[in-house]
Amino acid sequence: MRCALALALVPVLVGCSSSAPPPPAPEAPTASPGAGPAPGPDGRRWVAGDLHLHAAPIDRGDGAAGLPALVRAATAARLDFVVLTPHLHPSTWRDPARRRRWIAEWRATAAAARAVRGLTVIPGTEYTVHGYGHFGVWGADLAAVTAADFLAGARAAGAAVVVNHPFAEPTHIPGVRLSDYDLSFRPWTDARGPVPPLDGVEAWNLPLALANLVARPGGATGEERALAAADQLARTRHQPVAIVGGTDSHRAYTTAATWVLVADVTEQAIVAALRMGATCIGGPEAGDLVARGDRDPADRWARIGEQVAAAATVELRWQGRARLFVDGVDVGEHDAGYVDRQAAGTHTYRLVRGASRCGFVYANLAG
Ligand SMILES: [Zn+2]
Ligand SMILES: [Zn+2]
Repeated sequence: MRCALALALVPVLVGCSSSAPPPPAPEAPTASPGAGPAPGPDGRRWVAGDLHLHAAPIDRGDGAAGLPALVRAATAARLDFVVLTPHLHPSTWRDPARRRRWIAEWRATAAAARAVRGLTVIPGTEYTVHGYGHFGVWGADLAAVTAADFLAGARAAGAAVVVNHPFAEPTHIPGVRLSDYDLSFRPWTDARGPVPPLDGVEAWNLPLALANLVARPGGATGEERALAAADQLARTRHQPVAIVGGTDSHRAYTTAATWVLVADVTEQAIVAALRMGATCIGGPEAGDLVARGDRDPADRWARIGEQVAAAATVELRWQGRARLFVDGVDVGEHDAGYVDRQAAGTHTYRLVRGASRCGFVYANLAG
């Protein structure tokens, strides 16, 4: 999304000049980044980042900030990592001269990103196909991709692919032309086009969260629909799906939008955690969910992003009171745990505590 769209969606709340204060973030994380459950016995802990951040020089035309300003903003926001997602369009990829220029700028961006110390900066892109969808792509050397189909080529090269703001449908705010645009993922909103291999779903997007305040196409917020789609993707394709968030910032502004469960804050560890779906949005507090299936060893408790084996029963545990979703269905608030006695087959478990939404733990995912 462009900043102008955010402006269009909530004209009063969002400013686009670099001198304007950062926008408020409804449904935004309430916990300070890094807060949350203590490191587990495996040494992994929740670290905070932003997976959707536009950056100059590639996004200079949108007024995006350069790497030094973004690093300062991320450091001020106490983030552990950010993913740079400057735009890439099929028209650029198809044109040999424009593709060469893009690759040269991306390569320079990637080298500068990986040279940053004290903050993990992962170079990526937002691949935008008008009328189809927007995709966050990172975790591989995108400059080495040669395929005509960028998305397929990048994934074959090892990149993670996340569908961005999949339910950003037109909000039709009177007098605001840009709010008539459809930036959604058309296979899900319009039954148009195939669903490519996906590693994650951007359920929280700052402009989309703001749009949720003024419009709920289909009767549910974009986030609710994205979480349902992610759940369905996991169960129908029998694969992990990361629930992620991003500010979609086009300025020198960022905030904690995604938490990932890692032992080390390296690009490799973060990408691996995303690929297994070890993520939270809104805060890491619900990330203490653990689960054990009746076919698991008695002392093995799976964490977010992991899988359990169950013939009939899955036992879930967490601290305090939280809301549980089983297969995308809200089964209510429970204290400290829950037992699912109908756990044969493939199931997902997702926990919500306050603003923190974490998921999934999977039962019998390979089945
Ligand atoms: Zn974007
Ligand atoms: Zn976008």
